[in-house]
Amino acid sequence: MELNEIRERLDALDTTLVEALAERQRLVGEVARRKAAGGAPLRDLRREEDVLTRVVERSRGAGLDPFFMTRLFRDIMSQSVRTQEVVLAPAQAAPGAPLRVGYQGTEGAYSELAGRRYFGPRGVEVSYQGYDTFEEMLEDVHDGKLDYGVQPIENTTSGSVTAAYDLLSRMDLALVGEEIQEVDHCLLALEEVPLSRIRRIYSHPVALSQCGRFLGGLRDCHVEAFTDTAMAARRIRDEQDLSQAAIASEEAARLYGLTIIKRGIQDQPENYTRMVIVAREPVTFDLAIPCKTSLMFATRHEEGALVRCLSALAERHLSMTKLESRPRPRNPWEYLFYVDFEGNLADPNVADAIRAMAARASFLRVFGSYPSRTGAEARRAEPRPQVSAAPQAEAEPPEPAPRVAVLEKKAYTLASRLHRPEDTVIRVGAVEIGGRRPVMIAGPCSVESKEQIRACARVVKELGGHILRGGCFKPRTSPYSFQGLGFEALDLLAEAGAEFGLPVVTEVMHPADVGPVAEKAQILQVGARNMQNFSLLKEAGKIDRPVMIKRGLMSSVDEWLGAAEYVLAQGNQMVFLCERGIRTFETATRNTLDLSAVPVVKELSHVPVIVDPSHALGVARWVPPLAEAAIACGADGLMIEIHPDPERAQSDGPQALTFAMFETLMRRIRGLDEARRPA
Ligand code: PEP
Ligand code: MN
Repeated sequence: MELNEIRERLDALDTTLVEALAERQRLVGEVARRKAAGGAPLRDLRREEDVLTRVVERSRGAGLDPFFMTRLFRDIMSQSVRTQEVVLAPAQAAPGAPLRVGYQGTEGAYSELAGRRYFGPRGVEVSYQGYDTFEEMLEDVHDGKLDYGVQPIENTTSGSVTAAYDLLSRMDLALVGEEIQEVDHCLLALEEVPLSRIRRIYSHPVALSQCGRFLGGLRDCHVEAFTDTAMAARRIRDEQDLSQAAIASEEAARLYGLTIIKRGIQDQPENYTRMVIVAREPVTFDLAIPCKTSLMFATRHEEGALVRCLSALAERHLSMTKLESRPRPRNPWEYLFYVDFEGNLADPNVADAIRAMAARASFLRVFGSYPSRTGAEARRAEPRPQVSAAPQAEAEPPEPAPRVAVLEKKAYTLASRLHRPEDTVIRVGAVEIGGRRPVMIAGPCSVESKEQIRACARVVKELGGHILRGGCFKPRTSPYSFQGLGFEALDLLAEAGAEFGLPVVTEVMHPADVGPVAEKAQILQVGARNMQNFSLLKEAGKIDRPVMIKRGLMSSVDEWLGAAEYVLAQGNQMVFLCERGIRTFETATRNTLDLSAVPVVKELSHVPVIVDPSHALGVARWVPPLAEAAIACGADGLMIEIHPDPERAQSDGPQALTFAMFETLMRRIRGLDEARRPA
């Protein structure tokens, strides 16, 4: 055979190989569709092993290196798994438009490579966009300017990307995928120059830290941190200086026409970065796809709180793959925990675990489920015990006897005692809501001036009150009435609270104000008129701050608990209720204080309930007797309106107690509380 002829036959063989792989891919897609239709698991690791065994046998017979063939087929099969995922969960894009995918860095950055690996097999057009910072990229995902963001979250050498966790905690985004990017750092220069001639090396600080040993061995070489690896490579190209080099990927070398003068210079030969694919909304994946679920939570302050939360997973045979803790914003020495575990939210067992975890946590947010790129590959897939069939673990305490009869057609589950038999206690600094002592909240209806709110704060503190109240955004019946001083008032309230060491509570009326108000106020109030503002309740459920829900003027106890459920269902477990009077035929008082709601709610629900007699009575002198009655019937606390000069109050003056009246009331409440407590 002529050399030419041989080459032609080789080319033809390559074409046959490509066609065979394409046909294989088509068949794999067909298998995925059948498996999905039949509810069978996507991966069958035993079958994969059988395929490999057969390949090895045939390879030996054909004189091929079995090691090489095993590696090749592992790659082919891992590609099959991706193909099956794409068949079962196609990426979402606006019809006709390319997918918009963001990453931090410039073209050739590791995040971009991971994005191309992830979205490449999807067979759709993708436009990639580089960003200077993670934050700008994630904001664009949040604002809908990007369909997806590729966010590094951890590296096998340098550990967690803590900034990524902190951004995820405050940005209300979903995780819909993950990708593992092998990070093989190369030293790139303009051309093949001896290492000893390199005087300056640029790269991303994390890349530099991963190559510490290599860099430590260099002499007379200046190392400089740069915004990203690919940008460092671009600089080498632009500056045309033979004594400079960059640490970046092989792809960056190709992209910027540089020469690799040394490969694999990282300290750990196996160096991988795990990237998460971030989107605005979570995606539901078919149960046939092995998935991971990511969530974050904060614990209640109780012994063993963390263990109890995590055991909700272990009790259901769900395996945790990662646990990370980060400081909890605005709460010094408290932590947010981030957990990844093997499981899919579409699985009732997983949903049940999350419900149980939420009942034991003070705050929980699920980021979503997504196809797993780790773990499942390394372990044999054993059929997971079904929750219904699994016997209860022996150590588990018996289900407590229900304290309430189940109501038919209840609007709530998480708020129910059946879900959480123990009373919920909410801690705000040193203050307990729902604890053994009644919590005393007092302050003016509206924050009117610095002097006014300071005077109230001083009195609340001196008389042994726990929390300062003050309206900033006022829900007034008439648009011509005083509407509150808004964010200016919030600053005054927060300052007065800080000065006298009192947490503050204030009403938030608009969903968009929830985040900004939570920056300054330790507790958010949902007012009576907004009790069924469901958008507001949902926003309040996403924030890591206690929320007090006042009873609507025309709301039943069930509807009120339904409102609490809205907040709980979003993950925020720090909810308490406030009875403030309802509308009845009686007009002698402003509203009718429904004290019977207190024992009823306490029986139906674990959520603390306090009483606001001020808005119910509308007349200051009638407030103290009803305040005492509320404590006598088991309320977890009181909210009382006070004013330094009630006659001059801008709102609700007639019901505000003077400081002297408040002092008498506080004394009587203390006496009642002491009488109520066991000796
Ligand atoms: C308030 O507490 O300031 C208030 C407006 O109360 P309600 O929502 O109960 O009327
Ligand atoms: Mn008021």
